[in-house]
Amino acid sequence: MFAKILIANRGEIACRVIRTARRLGVRTVAVYSDADARALHVAEADEAVRIGPAPVGESYLRGDRILEAAKAAGAEAIHPGYGFLSENPDFAEAVAAAGLTFIGPSAASIRAMGLKDAAKALMEKAGVPVVPGYHGAEQDPAFLAERAAEIGFPVLIKARAGGGGKGMRRVDRAEDFAEALQGAQREGASAFGDPAVLIEKYVTHPRHIEVQVFGDAHGAAVHLFERDCSLQRRHQKVIEEAPAPGMSEETRAEIGAAAVRAARAVDYAGAGTVEFIADASEGLRADRIWFMEMNTRLQVEHPVTEAITGLDLVEWQLRVAAGDPLPLRQEELRIRGAAMEARLYAEDAPRGFLPQIGRLARLRLPQELARIDSGVREGDEVTPHYDPMIAKVIAHGKDRAEALARLRTALAASEIAGLTTNVAFLRALLAHDGFAKGEMDTGLIDRELSALTAPAPVAPEAAALAAVASLGLDAPAADPAPFAVADGWRLWSPERRTVELTGPEGETRVDLAILGPGRFAWATEAGDVPLRLAPAGEGLRVTVADGPARPVSLVRHERKVTVILDGEATAWTPPDPIAAATEAGGSGDALAAPMPGLVKVVSAAPGDRVVEGQTLIVLEAMKMEHRLTAPRDGEVAELLCAEGAQVSEGAILLRLADPEAEAA
Ligand code: ADP
Ligand code: ADP
Ligand code: MG
Repeated sequence: MFAKILIANRGEIACRVIRTARRLGVRTVAVYSDADARALHVAEADEAVRIGPAPVGESYLRGDRILEAAKAAGAEAIHPGYGFLSENPDFAEAVAAAGLTFIGPSAASIRAMGLKDAAKALMEKAGVPVVPGYHGAEQDPAFLAERAAEIGFPVLIKARAGGGGKGMRRVDRAEDFAEALQGAQREGASAFGDPAVLIEKYVTHPRHIEVQVFGDAHGAAVHLFERDCSLQRRHQKVIEEAPAPGMSEETRAEIGAAAVRAARAVDYAGAGTVEFIADASEGLRADRIWFMEMNTRLQVEHPVTEAITGLDLVEWQLRVAAGDPLPLRQEELRIRGAAMEARLYAEDAPRGFLPQIGRLARLRLPQELARIDSGVREGDEVTPHYDPMIAKVIAHGKDRAEALARLRTALAASEIAGLTTNVAFLRALLAHDGFAKGEMDTGLIDRELSALTAPAPVAPEAAALAAVASLGLDAPAADPAPFAVADGWRLWSPERRTVELTGPEGETRVDLAILGPGRFAWATEAGDVPLRLAPAGEGLRVTVADGPARPVSLVRHERKVTVILDGEATAWTPPDPIAAATEAGGSGDALAAPMPGLVKVVSAAPGDRVVEGQTLIVLEAMKMEHRLTAPRDGEVAELLCAEGAQVSEGAILLRLADPEAEAA
C-alpha cells in the first residue's frame, strides 16, 4: 500500500478519499485553489498545497501544477476523484511518466471510452448491445439531419466528448434539429473543446441503469451490481439507488456480464461504471437495455453500492492501484438490502434550479440517520467557481421502502440556512407516489416539475417566529429568573411590537405582545394566539396555543432570519426600500442575469419583434448554458450586453419596449 497519496480534487469527494486513506494509514496531500484555502478538504488532509487561483482552468485542471505538488510532497500516487482530471488520459499518462501511480485505469482504457462514438463502436465489436443511432465521423449538418430523420424522432444529439449531462439536446421534430445541433456543438466545444456529436434514438420510457465494475492489473474483472439513476433533471442525476427496482436476477446477471465484457474489452483496472439506458415500457428486460457510455472513474453515486455490498470502493481503488488483486470474486459478492442517495444542492428549484451562492449560516445534517458525504461545514461559502453541491445524503435499509423512509426522515431533519437549497424539492420527489412504487423513468421530474417545485404552504407561525428572532427575543432563558431575562419586554405590562417582514409569500406584518422570556401573544384575525419558545437540548421548541411542542431553529444571518420548522426552511427579511424600487423598474419586461456568467449568444437586436418563450440570450454560468427567453410577445427596446461579455448577477441584459409605447 502507498504511504502517501495526493488527491487532485476538492469538495466532498476529496474528503471521501481522505477518510478511507486515513483508515488505511495512508497519508494524504490536498491541493487547493485560492477560493478553497480554508476548505474542509484542506483541513482534513495531512498536508495541503496551493495550486492556483479560483478558476478551475488555473487550478484543479492544471495537471502540471498538481504533479509538481505531488513530487514536492513526496506522494506516490494521485487519486483524481470525479470530474476535473479524472477522465483525462493525458493526465493519467503524465502521472505515470513522472514515476507516480494514477489511481484509476490506464490512459489507454480512458481513451478507448473517452469519446462516446468510438466507445460505442468498440462495444458493438465486444458484443455489448448499444443504443441505435449514428456514431460516425461525418459531421455535416445536413447529413446529420438526414441520419436523425432515418433514426426517427425523437432523437438525442450528444456531444461525443460530453459528460455531466452537458452538450445534449433532445429533438422531437425535424424543424428543431438545426438549432439543437448548434446548441449541442457549442456546448461540446466550450465545455469539452470538441464540437463533434453523435445521434441516438431517444429511448422511450427510459430508465438509467448502470453497473459498477472493477478490474485489477491481473486480468480479473467483476461487477458490483447495478444502480438506478432514473431520477434526473437536464440529464443530471438527482436521486440514485441500488439495486434497481424491478430488476430480476436473470436480467441482473445479463447486464452484469455485459458490463464485465465492456470492462475486459478495454483491459480495465480500477473502478468504473458502465451506463445503460433501458426501455422500461414493459419492465426491465435484458433485450431492451443498451450501452450508453462508460465512466472511467469513481462515480458520484458510488455510496449506494457501498451500502448494499458493505464494501469501501475507495479502498478497492487504492488496493488495485497498488497492484493487489481484487479483494473478492464475483461469487463472493452479495446484495444486502437497498440504498438511496439524494444530492443536496445550493439551488433554487422553483426558479429554474438556479445555482445559489452564499454562506452556509447553518448546516446541520443528521449523521445519526444517514451517511452524509459533504465537503463543506457550517460557516463555509458556496462560491460561483465550482459545483454547488452541499452534500450527498445516503440511506440504507433492509428493503427499498425502508431506505426511502430513512432518506425522507434524514432530509426532514436537515437544517440549512443562508442559501436556498433543493431540500424541499428532494422531499417532494421522495414523496411522489409513482417513485415510491418504483415506477419512474428519466422524464418523471420534467413531467411533474410544477408540482415538485410548488412552494410548500408556509406555516403561519413561521412569520411570528421570524418576528421573534428579528427582535432578538429568541434566546429564552433556561431559568426564567427575573434577572436572566432578555431585554425588549417589561414586567409591568406586555410590550406590543409590529414587525414587517418579507417572506416566501410576500410582505407580511406580525403583531406580537411580549409577555416574558420566550412568551408571546401573536395577534391573528381569530384573536391572540399564545406562542412559547423553550430551550430543548441545544435547540429550541415552539408551542403554538395548546398544540404540541415542536423543534424549531431560528437562524439570523446578514439581514435575514431563517425559520426551520417541520423540515421546511423559510427565509424572512425586513423590507428593503431600495430593492423594492429596482424590482418595480424591471417590471417583468427586462431580462436580468440570474447569476454571474458569460454571455455566449445574443439572438435579438433592438427593434426585433419577439414572441413569448423565444430564446434571446444564452448565458453560460456554473458550466451550464441558461437560455433567457422573452417574458412576453413584444419588441426589443434595448440590448445592454454583447456576446462574450462577463455580467454580474442582476445585471439587466435586455429590455422590451413598453407595450403602450409600442401601441402608440
Ligand atoms: P456521476 O456519473 O459520477 O454520478 P454525473 O454523471 O452526474 O456524475 O456527473 C458527471 C461529472 O459532471 C461529474 O464529474 C461531476 O463533477 C460533473 N457534474 C455533475 N453535475 C454538475 C453540474 N451541475 N455542473 C458541473 N459539473 C457537474
Ligand atoms: P453524460 O456523459 O452527460 O452522462 P450520457 O450519455 O450518460 O451522458 O447520458 C446522460 C443521460 O441522458 C442518461 O442518464 C439518460 O437519462 C439520458 N439519455 C442518454 N441517452 C439517451 C437515449 N438514447 N434515450 C433516452 N435518454 C437518454
Ligand atoms: Mg452518463
